[in-house]
Amino acid sequence: MKLPTTLFLFLACCVFANTQAPIPELKNPPVENGGEYIYRDEACVPPALRNQIVQMLTANRAELVEQGILQEHPPRMIVSFEWPVVNAPGNHWNNSWGISNFVDQDLTSGLEDYECFARTYDGHKGTDIFTWPYPWYLKDNDLVYVVAGAPGTIIAKHDGNEDDHCSCFGTWNAVYIEHADGSIAWYGHLKLGSLTTKSVGETVTTGEYLGVVASSGCSTGPHLHLEVYDDDIYNYDHLIDPFSGPCNDFNASSWWVDQLDYREPKINTILTHDTPPVHGCPSPNEFPHFDDIFIPGETIYTAAYFKDQLAGTTVNYELLRPNGTSYTTWSKDFVNTYNASWWYYFWTFPNDGPFGTWKFKATYQGETVEHPFQYLEEEPPPEEEVPGVGIGTSDPLTELHLHDGALYIDNAAKGIILKGENGSCYLLKVDTGGALVAELLDDCPE
Ligand SMILES: [Zn+2]
Repeated sequence: MKLPTTLFLFLACCVFANTQAPIPELKNPPVENGGEYIYRDEACVPPALRNQIVQMLTANRAELVEQGILQEHPPRMIVSFEWPVVNAPGNHWNNSWGISNFVDQDLTSGLEDYECFARTYDGHKGTDIFTWPYPWYLKDNDLVYVVAGAPGTIIAKHDGNEDDHCSCFGTWNAVYIEHADGSIAWYGHLKLGSLTTKSVGETVTTGEYLGVVASSGCSTGPHLHLEVYDDDIYNYDHLIDPFSGPCNDFNASSWWVDQLDYREPKINTILTHDTPPVHGCPSPNEFPHFDDIFIPGETIYTAAYFKDQLAGTTVNYELLRPNGTSYTTWSKDFVNTYNASWWYYFWTFPNDGPFGTWKFKATYQGETVEHPFQYLEEEPPPEEEVPGVGIGTSDPLTELHLHDGALYIDNAAKGIILKGENGSCYLLKVDTGGALVAELLDDCPE
């Protein structure tokens, strides 16, 4: 359940830390809105699905052992994970995820995570990594990938299930990977149809694409559920909590190459909006109201989105004019610690400018994030419509456009054939990681 909470509405009055004389044109001190964003999942893998998964994994594994693809009793080694959630190419946000739930170490009805706090829910056997902000925008546009934390063999895949759930029902989409030492990782709640095209029995490397973060199955919003076992026996004796800490009773050492701190305070992104954004579930109830172009008389909303905002820390903000000079600065002291939060401020800029590209800037925990936006005298003319050129049929699969001066080929999934100077033909394709791959063709097409 995701509850956008507008907890605070108060004047952060007169916090202009400028040493310059007061800026006459600055009419409105920043009014603050926003608050905690709660992502609370309840039961990532209900018992019926868990039984189904275990049966499938056991059967698949037996078959892969018989085929000689897996060893029945592989040697014990140490598996270390890289972080399994990454920005997709084209996602330039500073960070796009937070952690809502760790493994529940308390086998009774109590809650305890590896650090002896209660950032978990009862009986949780995995780590929940949720996307933030605008998880539905991110999901719909394939902007956050799940990647393999460690190399291994795909031992099962679950696909074909809807991925826009806001509560617990149905079956998830997932990829299950066995590592060289026989330990097994479940990557669940993936986007319908987004799963790696590799088949059961094929291997993946660390960081390799597995799917898109979504909300399939028992899920209240887009997140990855990562569940790990040290063997193909799926009970508490074999459950792994990848995070090492004083209250991890499952395993002594960390399963991360580089274990993150319990709290990693960070700006996920800063944005501008033309209307206060609305967080909701699923897509039709989420209204990001992104806008980067404003004219006199319009209200400009500058918003910052955090993960692990930490009590006792401060974020510093600045608005910069097109010539780079400071328009105003302000700051906010955090009094609470939240898994995720957002804070926004609204402005009406002077009617006489200055016009051009402004910058909204935020500095938190030594990291500075910038967001440019346009303040223009009048609405820019609508982008000139250049008709697309269809290829092949009257209802073309592939279209060529000019976009902002660049040649844009919509749906070039099958590739582009280029004939070289030597007369050979090469098929160029972009893989899911954005890399260009060229393949020499035996013959050039007629
Ligand atoms: Zn979970």
